[in-house]
Amino acid sequence: MATKFQAWSQATQAITTGRSAADGALAPTLWATTTFEPADLAQAKEFATQRRPTHFYSRYGNPTVAAFEEAIAELEGAESARAFSSGMGAISSVVFGLCTQGAHIVASKQLYGGTRQLLEGFCPRFGIDVTFADGTKPGALEAAVVPGKTVLVIAETPANPRLDLVDLDELGSIVGPITVVDATFATPLGQQPLSYGVDLVIHSATKAIAGHNDATLGVVAGNADLVDWISGFASLQGACASPADALSGLRGIRTLPVRLRQQTATAHALAESLEGHPAVGEVRYPGLASHPQYELAQRQLKSAGGILSFELAGGYPAGEALVQRLNLAVHAPSLGGPETLICHPASTTHAGLDQAQLADSFISPGTIRISCGLEETADIVADFAQALDRVASSN
Ligand SMILES: *Cc1c(COP(=O)(O)O)cnc(C)c1O
Repeated sequence: MATKFQAWSQATQAITTGRSAADGALAPTLWATTTFEPADLAQAKEFATQRRPTHFYSRYGNPTVAAFEEAIAELEGAESARAFSSGMGAISSVVFGLCTQGAHIVASKQLYGGTRQLLEGFCPRFGIDVTFADGTKPGALEAAVVPGKTVLVIAETPANPRLDLVDLDELGSIVGPITVVDATFATPLGQQPLSYGVDLVIHSATKAIAGHNDATLGVVAGNADLVDWISGFASLQGACASPADALSGLRGIRTLPVRLRQQTATAHALAESLEGHPAVGEVRYPGLASHPQYELAQRQLKSAGGILSFELAGGYPAGEALVQRLNLAVHAPSLGGPETLICHPASTTHAGLDQAQLADSFISPGTIRISCGLEETADIVADFAQALDRVASSN
């Protein structure tokens, strides 16, 4: 797709992409229609039987949604992409569109809580076995593959919430199963999993891609046959992206490079300021030399990103005190938007996991996740400093 742009950087592609059917319009056009009138029965049948119709019925496809899909495919270096109504819509379509009863999935332990719940709670009901392995341990995912039985290997990198990394070279070289990366934290600008031989990349575009906390959207990108197969299932599963949200997604892509740059600068400064603070234990940010996989981060991440996590020395009570003492950062789930958000994973994104699952996902009661927004960096650093100083003095 769009080979004429390939010499340009991704930041430029983000500006030029998604216009192949735009009729000269620079801003995305909202096709707020669920249905289309064909010229005659022959054309109706042609649209109804296309693999990816865009002018038939919007659950199957829609021109605004297709423009967003074109943009994601181009940024990921993929042949094709399919948008969904959410990140979970994308993940569940990949899982249930590709696995049948008796299938086996290998997944990294370090996953978004919803993905873990889907795999651990629902897959067994459909006769799909799941084995979890530590995605940070070299060779662990590959070692869990059962030849002839494992259909999917699912990893998330950097993983929610602790920024653990999975080696994409290793994942991409696994032979047999279809390999999948949830790359929400990195965005298409931070890494390109498909270039390592990974088969499918997934994003919760609700996060940094749409980028303004106003759209719920997901996407899968990969080779055309695989994405078409998933789309065939998805059209009947029904988690289709709304044209309005796809428009927000494409609009978000235009400013993603500059937003990511600002958020990364703030995250780096904040992470540095947190290290050594008496209220703070371990700080995890892939851009700091203290990250246990810093060397891997340097190798595979083009941007360390706007998200970091840390452990509060005072555990849960310190978490409660911290969210109350921040004046600027907002206590809310989600990430990648204009506002700096603080989230306590054990009571939000991973609240559906029991104590054993939390421990197995390496999340403690004192784990805090920060998504840096677009405020002035110094203001965010100062807000955390004043709040943490008060948390430390009340310990
Ligand atoms: C938020 C998130 C999801 C789920 O996406 P939704 O759009 O909320 O369905 C999946 N994976 C990661 C890493 C996420 O952060």
